[in-house]
Amino acid sequence: MNRYPALINGEEVNAGASFEDIDPSTGEVLAEVTRGGPQEINDAVAAARQALEGTWRRTRPAERARILRRMSDLMRRDRDRLADLESRDTGKPLRQARADADVAIRYFEFYAGAVEVLYGETIPVSSDVFIYTLREPFGVTGHIIPWNYPLQIGARTVAPALAAGNCCVLKPAEEAPLTAVHLGRIGLEAGLPPGALNVVPGYGEEAGAALAAHPGIDHLSFTGSVEVGALVSKAAADHVIPVTLELGGKSPNLVFADADLGAALPVVVNSIIQNAGQTCSAGSRLLVQAPIHDQLMDEMTARFQKISLGPGPADPDMGPLISATQLERVARYVDLGKSEAHAVAGGGPPDDARLKGGFFFLPTVFDDVPPSAVIAREEIFGPVVAVTSFSDLDEAAQLANGTDFGLVAAVWTRNVSTAHVMAREIRAGQVFVNTYGASGGPEMPFGGVKRSGHGREKGFQGLLEYTQVKTVAMKIELGVA
Ligand code: NAD
Repeated sequence: MNRYPALINGEEVNAGASFEDIDPSTGEVLAEVTRGGPQEINDAVAAARQALEGTWRRTRPAERARILRRMSDLMRRDRDRLADLESRDTGKPLRQARADADVAIRYFEFYAGAVEVLYGETIPVSSDVFIYTLREPFGVTGHIIPWNYPLQIGARTVAPALAAGNCCVLKPAEEAPLTAVHLGRIGLEAGLPPGALNVVPGYGEEAGAALAAHPGIDHLSFTGSVEVGALVSKAAADHVIPVTLELGGKSPNLVFADADLGAALPVVVNSIIQNAGQTCSAGSRLLVQAPIHDQLMDEMTARFQKISLGPGPADPDMGPLISATQLERVARYVDLGKSEAHAVAGGGPPDDARLKGGFFFLPTVFDDVPPSAVIAREEIFGPVVAVTSFSDLDEAAQLANGTDFGLVAAVWTRNVSTAHVMAREIRAGQVFVNTYGASGGPEMPFGGVKRSGHGREKGFQGLLEYTQVKTVAMKIELGVA
């Protein structure tokens, strides 16, 4: 049995306590992992502060970029290993885990490039004062990430923070901590100073809460549920530090009657089965214009019935849910949904002896879902899509905006004006037209409105979020020879 340590100050730390990391495809123990708590968080924050003041804050951007590029090279070397580990730890199909590894690699490349073109401004107020701005790191940044895309989200949050000159403490989720530890090891191999990137696995209410409340943290990035995001936000407020919140979603695909259904259907289906629906930007609502409702439902249901289920490393269409707890949660929502709407596909765990022990659930479609239904409003975080019809643009916009969330939306239409009107009217951080990028590549700013959170990660904007602006005004003595 592998034991996974914490990484603090460049050292592998095996604290006394540990926890069992469960393989969601089998329900068996995959690894023993060091259970970090307040002491390990404290040590990690101290190590990060030391690395920051020692060298990292003053390292030239080109030097930081060189180390981040080396990290991306080493990740590419380890790509298959990382993908295999991620697939086992989260249960996601191997193909998806490989795609995640590729995106994680890209974050390091992207931010290595971006930091070399991160400039301040000069502000021409008057000829006797020279005013300029500096973009400085916050200092020690805390990063709390979820279990659904640990490698991708870990990379997306620490790569820009390191690039900007911060030193990090990363707390992965207890359900899937393994690739975060590997990422920390790669950082050391690539030449990050000890303490620049610390990784402390542990339970949310122990290690996570200790990190959020630590007075030595200068900026927090949290990706996870709305409930815990609110707790982290309160802890950050106590120390008056900024926090980026990447929270949940109830993202709609809006399919208009003039859409190219052949193009839309596979993408709409994938947007909800990807990672078994455990994606913040999952297309968990399907809003369809009434004249094409029946055709779309027939074709979609047929596709859902063909989706193969299996352990992640066997690379099926869809893997298991992450845990027994998540399975219970999804089953509870689906039972409730049966009293609110019609289940036309799925509706429970598969009846398949090969999948016994794993946390599998059939991809499920609910039709004729009233917008007021719980399954139309709350994030289920499973392979469950709620279908509702609309008649015109106004109703489409109203339905799209009718939840507390606003992360992603997609509009499927051949009419350019419909696309523009909807892109403007929908309240979400990202709107796709005739595609659904599930948050897109590293270049595209990503984040939510309303209860989906605030602040942006990814893209150049993601780098700016890890810097703060200092303004310098310098009086010039005019008339000096
Ligand atoms: P979660 O909120 O339960 O856990 C997220 C992280 O917070 C984990 O590392 C956990 O250990 C930690 N945590 C738990 N309790 C804590 C506490 N009291 N103090 C500090 N940290 C604590 O979320 P989850 O179940 O891991 O992930 C699912 C949620 O994440 C969904 O709502 C999903 O939409 C959201 N998510 C959002 C994005 C995004 O980018 N917007 C991406 C992925 C997931």
